[in-house]
Amino acid sequence: MHIKKQYLSDWKKSEKSNMPTNTFNIESIVRPHILKLKPYSSARDEYTGKSGVFLDANENPFGSVSGEAFNRYPDPLQKAVKEKLAIIKEVKPEQIFLGNGSDEAIDLLFRAFCEPQKDKVLLLPPTYGMYKVSADINLVETLEIPLTTEYQLDTEKILSLIEKENKVKLIFVCSPNNPTGNQINLAEIEKILNNFSGLVVVDEAYIDFAPEKSMVHFLDKYPNLIVLQTFSKAWGMAALRIGMAYASKQIIDLLNKIKPPYNINQLTQEKVLEALDANELRKQKVEELITLRENLKNALLEMPLVEKVYPSDANFLLIKVPEATKIYDKLIKQLVIVRNRSSVILCDNCLRITVGTAEENTKLLKALAEI
Ligand code: PMP
Repeated sequence: MHIKKQYLSDWKKSEKSNMPTNTFNIESIVRPHILKLKPYSSARDEYTGKSGVFLDANENPFGSVSGEAFNRYPDPLQKAVKEKLAIIKEVKPEQIFLGNGSDEAIDLLFRAFCEPQKDKVLLLPPTYGMYKVSADINLVETLEIPLTTEYQLDTEKILSLIEKENKVKLIFVCSPNNPTGNQINLAEIEKILNNFSGLVVVDEAYIDFAPEKSMVHFLDKYPNLIVLQTFSKAWGMAALRIGMAYASKQIIDLLNKIKPPYNINQLTQEKVLEALDANELRKQKVEELITLRENLKNALLEMPLVEKVYPSDANFLLIKVPEATKIYDKLIKQLVIVRNRSSVILCDNCLRITVGTAEENTKLLKALAEI
């Protein structure tokens, strides 16, 4: 379904062609019953005024037992958060979906676009594990084209696969990639966007730590682009569970149609509004973390035990060691917990280490030195 044959041969002949050949039509890829679905209409959807006597939602009129004002249901469409976020991200509020972590957005993409046991998705391992888990939960087959040994897209293979396979609805590109840490070359992602009539989901959970800019700026150019981001990393708010999907209004409307009505709780909406006012502080903290990352990288490179530290555009480092599982177990005994990625394709004997505070990084280095 997804690629013009002519393009593929042209592209093989000369790389200069990066012109859109793709005619994207959302209605042809959404699951038919989702397109027809009449969504749940919550009480707060119908009356959006701020004042009045609210006797419509069976709430408790007294306030909360805990003392705070949590007795009212939160805004189902999180308008205040989206308005502020839209300014920072330079997108329109209607191009933003907010989920209970970006993991919720990943799951909803399957539910909106992939017919169980019929449609397929394309994963590019090594990559974030949740794409496969969500696919499995939703009974959607996953096809895989591993990254190259440089951890970049194998574009030629991807293009020829989507030419043959007409059931692929979603391609997940994680950039910067988890667990490898590197950004994926933009020009390669654009080649896929230009030639795939399904959706390309670019997961930018770690984008704030990366040198290249976000793909949210390409939303108007590519109607088949979805960009995921999260408040869990650079914003330091993983416990609040809020992540974003940016896409065309049509796609965002579909996600809103199928999400649970009050998926972002009141406390989270309030705290995120406060955080958005402190955007400058986020930038400072990101700079600090990048400095810590580079210091940690240099210190690790000095250690005889460390065979390789992969380049990172994220807040973690992937390292290669002689016997990853043994080292991982020894670190745990010293109460230093890292992620053992040695069973993952292209990550033989690799550990993924989150950049901590200076003290935490020193503890890790000491523990490694004692092995
Ligand atoms: N995408 C990637 C690449 C991640 O690494 C993670 C979390 N580790 C997520 C998404 C999920 O983030 P959230 O906390 O917003 O659900």
